[in-house]
Amino acid sequence: MRRLIPALMIAAFLWWRPLAAADRPRLVVIVVVDQFRADYLSTFASHWRSGFKTLLAEGANFRRAQYPYLHTDTCAGHATVGTGTLPRTHGMVSDTWWDRDTGRQIGCTEDEAAPPVTYGRPTTVGASGRRLMVPTLADRLREQRPGARVVTLSLKARSAIGLAGHAGDVVLWFEDAAMAFTTSRAYASAPVPAVKEFIDRSPYEKGLGTIWTLRDPAGTYRNRDAGVGERPPAGWSALFPHELKGVKDADAQFAGQWRRSPQADAYLGRLAISLIDAYGLGQRNTTDFLGIGFSAVDTVGHLFGPDSREVEDVASRLDDTLGALIESLDAKVGRANYVLALSADHGVAAIPSAVNGSGRVAGEDVRDRVEEVLRGRYGVPKTGSHVVSNVEGDLYLAAATQMRLSGDPAAVRSVQAAVAMIPGVQQVLYTPGLSDKSPDPIVRAAAWSSVASRNGDFITLPKRDWLLTGRNSVNAASHGTPYDYDQRVPLILFGGGIRRGSFDGPAAPTDIAPTLAAVIGIDMPKVEGRLLNEALVAATSSTR
Ligand SMILES: [Zn+2]
Repeated sequence: MRRLIPALMIAAFLWWRPLAAADRPRLVVIVVVDQFRADYLSTFASHWRSGFKTLLAEGANFRRAQYPYLHTDTCAGHATVGTGTLPRTHGMVSDTWWDRDTGRQIGCTEDEAAPPVTYGRPTTVGASGRRLMVPTLADRLREQRPGARVVTLSLKARSAIGLAGHAGDVVLWFEDAAMAFTTSRAYASAPVPAVKEFIDRSPYEKGLGTIWTLRDPAGTYRNRDAGVGERPPAGWSALFPHELKGVKDADAQFAGQWRRSPQADAYLGRLAISLIDAYGLGQRNTTDFLGIGFSAVDTVGHLFGPDSREVEDVASRLDDTLGALIESLDAKVGRANYVLALSADHGVAAIPSAVNGSGRVAGEDVRDRVEEVLRGRYGVPKTGSHVVSNVEGDLYLAAATQMRLSGDPAAVRSVQAAVAMIPGVQQVLYTPGLSDKSPDPIVRAAAWSSVASRNGDFITLPKRDWLLTGRNSVNAASHGTPYDYDQRVPLILFGGGIRRGSFDGPAAPTDIAPTLAAVIGIDMPKVEGRLLNEALVAATSSTR
């Protein structure tokens, strides 16, 4: 016993040491708000009277949180939050990539070996965490805490799966093609009774015929209605109010509107509360995990842009949804018994406009220019083309071309010079040349985003404020760059073990999983985030 004393004395001098087992929270909650840019917390602050107000007043707010990598999109962001690692390590480099083995584009969670299990109309698209190359916090929790339950919900498979990882009790998403909530065999062999009961009792189709009106008096909105460049979904104009109506009934047009309305977030919030009850999350003698990916700020933001009244309102209504969630957690679990993190998977750029001198760049134009340069140099290939795939300006080369180019730096330079002539293109990165040790921050950001077998040979970087997208994309605005508007996101910790305050030290979404793991006493080796120990309450009693 005496020999332990020096060790304990050293521990007493450390800034923070783990909470005693009895003091640890019994529920981890991660909330990721898709496309919620960091500045929204202050830009829309006049609307906060519920969830965001509580989080800002009583949580630990990391005001400089930022993703460090280039491809700021949904799959990469959720996997980063879920695992505490960067895309180069967890492997979810972007929403979609070209699979060189099968010769086709695949979604990051697509998995034919995990057939869908649907709560509505049949669907053919299976999904799993098979391509996620490291365990999530939730995976570690299941390993280390017998009986731990893992529940994750989102409108998007890549959000629910990025938070849950490789297994879970409820891993649920909305399948757009089937217009139905779905999971897969990776997570359940049949519909989960607690979820089925909720969906049967209150199907989302009940929203048919309802009207999306402003939550607050019109005069309190800073963003104008019907702004320049908005692209409302089928059946809506750019002006409030928006009626959720199908062409005939609860059809594809209605589902498209519902996904792009505050109702989608409110629905997930209510489902989460009902599952806290059904599973007794945080109310048993173990630690549970609840992950929610709220998607409506993103689905609305893509069509109406970040400066729209629609985004301002969907964020305001999320304030109510978060408030109800926190109230329910406080009542059922107790504030000291859960620890919550709120962040986003990425931000967003304004709708490009002549006003700020920006516009749209088509990935196809970049592809065509690269093909042209390579044909000029190597001739027309016997079959197919030099560039075999283009995923939002990530260009994949045929194996033979790839080989030739690797020994031909002059050709790489001429490709880069030719593409840089396209209006709106900042530069084209050649991925074999990427290094996380580079003095160039863009090269480092691209290296952290890349897994050689999954990324393109060339990555196109648009100029600041320009939108790089597919020629036929319906998006008015998007994200995916290493610019601050895409990288900067909220990061708030709240609840048991957390000290309130504002913190201006460096922070990133990679820090969420290791910090939560430390609060609940779970081992999380090989993470790339840091422990946000300035926000942690020091242990009060001696270690037990
Ligand atoms: Zn998005």
